[in-house]
Amino acid sequence: MTDSLTRPERTRPELSRPEALDAQGATGDDVLEVHSPATGDLVGAYAVDDDDSVRAAVARAREDAAWWGGLGFEGRKEILDQWRGVIARRAGQLADVVHRETGKPHSDAMLEVALTVDHLAWAAKHAPKVLGSRKVSSGPLMANQAATLEYLPLGVIGVIGPWNYPVFTPMGSIGYALAAGNAVVFKPSELTPGVGVWLADALREVVPQRHLLQVVVGRGETGAALCGSAIDKLAFTGSTATGKKVMAACAQNLTPVLIEAGGKDPLLVDEDADVAAAADATVWGAFSNAGQTCIGVERVYVHEKVYADFVGEVTRLAGDVRAGSGDGVKYGPMTMPSQVDVIKGQVEDAVAKGATVTFGDVADLGQHRTVQPIVLTDVPADSTAITEETFGPTVAVTRVRDMDEAVELANATAYGLGSTVFSKARGPELARRLRSGMTAVNGVITFAAIPSLPFGGVGDSGFGRIHGEDGLKEFTYAKAVARQRFKPPLALTTFARTAKTDTTLATIVNALHGGASQLPKLPKRPKGA
Ligand code: NDP
Repeated sequence: MTDSLTRPERTRPELSRPEALDAQGATGDDVLEVHSPATGDLVGAYAVDDDDSVRAAVARAREDAAWWGGLGFEGRKEILDQWRGVIARRAGQLADVVHRETGKPHSDAMLEVALTVDHLAWAAKHAPKVLGSRKVSSGPLMANQAATLEYLPLGVIGVIGPWNYPVFTPMGSIGYALAAGNAVVFKPSELTPGVGVWLADALREVVPQRHLLQVVVGRGETGAALCGSAIDKLAFTGSTATGKKVMAACAQNLTPVLIEAGGKDPLLVDEDADVAAAADATVWGAFSNAGQTCIGVERVYVHEKVYADFVGEVTRLAGDVRAGSGDGVKYGPMTMPSQVDVIKGQVEDAVAKGATVTFGDVADLGQHRTVQPIVLTDVPADSTAITEETFGPTVAVTRVRDMDEAVELANATAYGLGSTVFSKARGPELARRLRSGMTAVNGVITFAAIPSLPFGGVGDSGFGRIHGEDGLKEFTYAKAVARQRFKPPLALTTFARTAKTDTTLATIVNALHGGASQLPKLPKRPKGA
């Protein structure tokens, strides 16, 4: 048994009652209280991790990362499969925590957990094939060498996550980083620390003495401490503004970063589209989770030939969507109270610039934590409802003369996360023309649930990928090995290289590559020119 196996287990203190806070001497900034967005009730209180405790967590992770990396793919898969089993069997319990902390309906939380479990299975199963050692061609010039390539774990990965999908989103980094052989220190959003603690506790049940996944709790300062610690990579999911701060902080130590930031996702409806399906996708894509979805539908561009039908259908469906708390609601209150003002500001800006409120009651917008669906039409392109991420249950629908105009408007944003196309004949073609990391054709958000597809954006939506093969490689470094099999006929990498060798090399290179891409003959110069 190694030292670490006998080490006393560190448990995260959950200070569940306000009285307990004083008893443990933790007050004010030392304590993070979590309140239910639906009821305002205190649903958890946690001691905040400072610089020292973040550093200590990273040091513990470093020790156990060596053990975890050395276990190999099969050993790791066994443990990750057990963890997956615990999460799946207690999905209802985890969904309860999500529901309490975010206010989203329990069934939405269950969906999030289900998709997460599926990703975890994929990552553990495919890691050996994607990352394991394989032979690659050494090429004619180096035919005496055997070349192998593998992807090795980086060591300790810091993960900073948001609150909107507090299981699915950070687990896109955590699960894939673990499957690739790293230990993880996770800083959940200050709104959803209980979800992070639940996930870490579940893994600790499977491997009690190891610190494979530790949670550090706190606000932005705790996240900043993680960025400045001795981690080997930082995977950030959150807003573009915070992503820039994270990148700047990580640059101090040349710590590489993965940035999964915001979006302003467009949905295109072509003239031949199934209008009813496109409207259904729009309503769910825009309003589910109260619009607090990085890949939520925020802008819709509709061919003029089907515009009236589409707007009619969206309006009808929006009428069936009731938000709030309790049974039968389709989504809950805004998780972050300040988001209500952002939504109000964007809607007012759009209306002031000439937009029409086709559906929704905007008179008392800003008065309640729950925002009912809002459909805007004729929204000018310079409105913040078009240019900035809303992260609320609103959607802006715009009429276009054709799909060229739709693509142009859809791409006229600094973001480039997800997108959607509804078209019978031109789906894949239009998808390729959209500048976004992912596109769903005749469906919505479907790519996120397919574990073999990479997830991530371009531009202000960030860079790097979670999920799929790219998501596994993201948490590794490529290790290249060239092994000499026999003495080279041409000794190139030595000062003993001769002039004859140089001549032979030139002849071979000319034979191999000289015929490639012959220069086109230049047109004859006209006389007198
Ligand atoms: P924020 O950017 O506010 O926060 C993200 C995380 O960063 C939180 O854990 C936050 O902590 C932490 N943080 C805040 N300040 C710092 C800092 N200076 N240094 C390090 N960490 C810091 O985003 P939200 O939590 O509000 O999430 C919503 C955003 O996330 C939206 O823009 C959404 O589009 C994006 N998102 C992107 C996804 C993607 O995959 N591309 C998926 C899901 C969401 P704390 O909460 O304690 O402030």
